[in-house]
Amino acid sequence: MDSRRKPLIAGNWKMFTDAASAVALAREVLNRCGRVRGCDVAVCPPFPFLVAVARVLEGSAIGLGAQDLSPEDEGAFTGDVSARMLRGVGCGYVIVGHSERREHHLETDDLVRRKLDRALANGLLPILCVGERLQERDAGETFRRIDRQVTVALEGMAPDALARVVVAYEPVWAIGTGRTASPAQAEEVHEFIRKKVAALHGDAAAAVLRILYGGSVKAGNAAALLAERDVDGALVGGASLTVDAFAGIVECVG
Ligand code: PEP
Repeated sequence: MDSRRKPLIAGNWKMFTDAASAVALAREVLNRCGRVRGCDVAVCPPFPFLVAVARVLEGSAIGLGAQDLSPEDEGAFTGDVSARMLRGVGCGYVIVGHSERREHHLETDDLVRRKLDRALANGLLPILCVGERLQERDAGETFRRIDRQVTVALEGMAPDALARVVVAYEPVWAIGTGRTASPAQAEEVHEFIRKKVAALHGDAAAAVLRILYGGSVKAGNAAALLAERDVDGALVGGASLTVDAFAGIVECVG
């Protein structure tokens, strides 16, 4: 971490919780993490619970995010949810290009860029997920894959828009598997991403870009990951579903 960048710990609840447990979890997160000042904290519940969770979090320091958005503003797009709708119900963040969407919904780098632009145009802070699959890592293609994802997502972006992007490096082989990248493995890719952004947009923009790590982060491994120079927080899946596990991560930085 670097004092020029305020850490962010964001919980991705994926397709878990129900109407009652989402509200209960949001209340618990608010109670345990609501007074944290050393880092930003956000939760990303499923779409149907955003409104109820927004009510719980209203006026607090805990941010609210969605897990996806449409690349379109409005129209005949059955089942999709627009950036404007998300803003309208109180979202400040949105996850874009999560590997589970890239894999199960065949989201391409180009589609991810369109979603990113739509989020930014509507005042949301996008959390752009990038990461290599296990076969890519084993084939020595990690940096090539990350280079392409970052380039397509961020090339040519206006400086004020870029300043609101958060990147999350999430090696696909570490998501939900219990297998975490070592701090050195994470730092190597985070440093690469920052250098890539410096090449695209200059050193000053790269120096303030927040790059989160995601992939089986828990209270027990978070401190070591977050101690790395270019790791500015965490995107947390499984461990965001219980308040003790999530708050344990937040407390490593907050
Ligand atoms: C995620 O969903 O972004 C994630 C990192 O999941 P997990 O922490 O469960 O690996």
